[in-house]
Amino acid sequence: MGAFLDKPKTEKHNAHGAGNSLRFGLSSMQGWRVEMEDAHTAVLGLPHGLPDWSFFAVYDGHAGSRVANYCSKHLLEHIISASLNPPAAAAAASSSSTTPTPEAGLSGPAPTVEAVKAGIRVGFLKIDEHMRSFSDLRNGMDRSGSTAVGVLVSPAHIFFVNCGDSRGVLCRNSHVCFSTLDHKPCNPREKERIQNAGGSVMIQRVNGSLAVSRALGDYDYKCVEGKGPTEQLVSPEPEVFEIARAPEDQFVVLACDGIWDVMSNEELCDFVRSRLEVSDDLERVCNEVVDTCLHKGSRDNMSVVLVCMPNAPKVSEEAVRRDAELDTFLEARVEEMIEKSGDEGIPDLVTVIRQLSTESIPNLPPGGGLASKRSVVEAVYHRLNPHREEDGNGADLEEPW
Ligand code: MN
Repeated sequence: MGAFLDKPKTEKHNAHGAGNSLRFGLSSMQGWRVEMEDAHTAVLGLPHGLPDWSFFAVYDGHAGSRVANYCSKHLLEHIISASLNPPAAAAAASSSSTTPTPEAGLSGPAPTVEAVKAGIRVGFLKIDEHMRSFSDLRNGMDRSGSTAVGVLVSPAHIFFVNCGDSRGVLCRNSHVCFSTLDHKPCNPREKERIQNAGGSVMIQRVNGSLAVSRALGDYDYKCVEGKGPTEQLVSPEPEVFEIARAPEDQFVVLACDGIWDVMSNEELCDFVRSRLEVSDDLERVCNEVVDTCLHKGSRDNMSVVLVCMPNAPKVSEEAVRRDAELDTFLEARVEEMIEKSGDEGIPDLVTVIRQLSTESIPNLPPGGGLASKRSVVEAVYHRLNPHREEDGNGADLEEPW
């Protein structure tokens, strides 16, 4: 469990790209935590003869960023290598090799669904076995671990891959049509494995300590004698779900628990859908997700990857106009509150926001609500009260509302 800063670090890391009839944007932010332990991957067009495949993932590190960072750079290689090589060859390959055979798959047919699913599983187990040989992870100097949630997108399928409690969702026909299931120690299947390995689940944590039951790394929880790698207290085995792509597919969102702690699957999909009608800048949409979650009270690192399919919502003039009207309305309300403040003086920003949250404001973004318009409120407040800027940035303001 990480410590907290006096005020959140709100600088964001962004990236975007387009290809294979997909567009992606991503945003990550340290937030209130003392360390940034999240990492991510976004690759359009895969090496080794899979130019029309793509891969996206979010990794939520804990007890350090080493495992999350290593996986963000190398998990894909392990998966491709295992998917393109028959299991026997993969098993026979040296466990210390991280370089896929260069010629593998170059001229061969695309791997079958079953080969990909098996390859993803083997890739996870192999990278976990491989990292265990790193001296700092072996000798316990570094005790880090990481969740991983990702999608491997082929022309015909979306393979959702999950290990841990980050989450991926697919929005199709304006509804959440699929979401991965979090691996929590209390889940009956997870609990059974933990107990069979001689552990227990207390305060919803593995041995009262780790809040997630599957992860890469975390070797302290992977040394029960006589048990295989997928029978340990914490397992690196991913769950893989293949979904046939449909023309109605709109977008996939991958995010760590810093996002899901304060937004449900439906809320996040509603919010993303409504923002895509206002802007086609996917980095901006992801930044709005992250900022909204901060203002909704998330205290964790936050990472979100948004992958848009051809049928994703398009910018509509009507939505843009409504959004601009909302901003104007909020600005006018803040001005009014400040102008009408009498003897008791100008209200502070928290009071202004609390007041707004009690009012019925038309056309707030679904799923985001007033929290998603905090920057608009702050901007007009600071414009009218430049001398109160210091107060307005205080840590005490960042409360759920
Ligand atoms: Mn987290």
